[in-house]
Amino acid sequence: MRNHNLYAVLEQGFPPDRSRIAIQTPTLCYSWDDIDRASACLANLLASLELPIGARVAVQVEKSPEALLLYLATLRAGLVYLPLNTAYREAEVEYFLRNAEPALVVCTEENLEWMSRAARHAGTSHVHTLNDDRSGSLLQAAGALPQVFQTVERGPDDLAAILYTSGTTGRSKGAMLSHGNLVSNAQVLHEYWGWRDTDVLLHMLPIFHVHGLFVAAHGALMAGARMIWLPRLDIEQALAWLPHSTVMMGVPTYYVRLLADPRFGRAHCASMRLFVSGSAPLLTETFEQFRRRTGHTILERYGMSETVMLTSNPYRPESARLPGTVGRALPGVSVRVVDEAGQPAAPGQVGHVQVRGPNVFCGYWRMPEKTHEEFTADGWFRTGDMGMFGSPGQDGRVPDDYLSIVGRSKDLIISGGFNVYPKEIESLIDELDGVDESAVVGVPHPDFGEAVVAVVVPRHGCVLDEAAMIAALKQRIANFKVPKRVHVIDALPRNAMGKVQKNVLRQAYGRL
Ligand code: AMP
Repeated sequence: MRNHNLYAVLEQGFPPDRSRIAIQTPTLCYSWDDIDRASACLANLLASLELPIGARVAVQVEKSPEALLLYLATLRAGLVYLPLNTAYREAEVEYFLRNAEPALVVCTEENLEWMSRAARHAGTSHVHTLNDDRSGSLLQAAGALPQVFQTVERGPDDLAAILYTSGTTGRSKGAMLSHGNLVSNAQVLHEYWGWRDTDVLLHMLPIFHVHGLFVAAHGALMAGARMIWLPRLDIEQALAWLPHSTVMMGVPTYYVRLLADPRFGRAHCASMRLFVSGSAPLLTETFEQFRRRTGHTILERYGMSETVMLTSNPYRPESARLPGTVGRALPGVSVRVVDEAGQPAAPGQVGHVQVRGPNVFCGYWRMPEKTHEEFTADGWFRTGDMGMFGSPGQDGRVPDDYLSIVGRSKDLIISGGFNVYPKEIESLIDELDGVDESAVVGVPHPDFGEAVVAVVVPRHGCVLDEAAMIAALKQRIANFKVPKRVHVIDALPRNAMGKVQKNVLRQAYGRL
């Protein structure tokens, strides 16, 4: 019988010459043999705990090669990996541990005290530490164990990971992803983006999230390609390593920050073949500025924790990558846009994005009702995103099979009974003189139910005038869409993945 364990599938892509470098940090190199042996030691340690099938391993550690090895070891041992954002503090982690009831918690030494407390409350019997300098009890315990391990057999429906959604609205939910979900998506992206073993991936994303852990790391591992492993985006390091790389993946902020450095240009990108952006919308301005500066066209894709990747702009030809769109449904993935009645929306019309495919998760951990609510009767997952195929007004500029995301349905503003899509207003505001970027939210209004409020960041050195901006927008859009207030601030609040935290804005600017 074929082993569907994700690790076993990734391993098939490792290069025949296992002495080649798999992971490189500014100071250390790890060969493919090292990956195999170190993940075997760790898997032996996990196996020695004799945990029941389906046991969870919750991990909140800083990014390091060993953190990735722990993920691989968890897969090999047939356990369920549960990464936690390193920004979460005790009260948040308490919730995740109580909800997930992991059998093992791995944390940094710095957090050991409160993490042990939280683990105890959740009934977790094992706690280990792992620091980003290769110290901690986990590696000490694993170091003496055998360097070979027979990867445990798993079926496609067996759980591989639980990813807690960022929960900017309501309680965070644990999305359960199976080996089959992750394998299918890794294989599709391998083909679609033309991964090869000569690639070098500049890996600067966090690995507690789908983008860095699944999209980026699986891509390189499955291709037998080297990864340059940096803990985070650091512009000096990025400029130093880009000339040695062929692929980079980033959230839009990474591209904005690269462009903000006047030194960044074509020379850094001479060996690059692919820049991928996702997790949050890439501004058309960033897309165009990047193309002018480097000669490269950023490929934007769309996905989420519950589904891994759903759509992508084409790999070839580069000219078919269109700004403001997230491209076509990936092979094997079905995407539809429906109106309020669940009927297909016409091209150019905004509706609810729903998806289906082997990549779509198995449900929310211990939330059968929530899971039931989020799937339609005919088996489509409601992404919670609003989007459209083709162009608004169908001017033909965007082909009908290209999807554009206009925002979360929860961010939709209903003002005086009319729908207002924040993205439409944000795009218009961004075109005004002196505007760098903007976010539009709905706030309670006594007459209209909700009113549109904009929060705008000026370009460096520009002064913005609220009344003038409102007057300019009145010329271009219906009155109900025009913001009642425009607040000018220095920077938009974003989470670790570069998403604008609209809940924070609603709280701060909720009163008119
Ligand atoms: P997460 O589960 O944290 O990855 O968040 C997924 C959400 O991020 C999606 O449902 C979208 O709202 C948003 N998202 C991801 N990629 C894009 C993109 N390329 N453009 C716009 N929104 C995106």
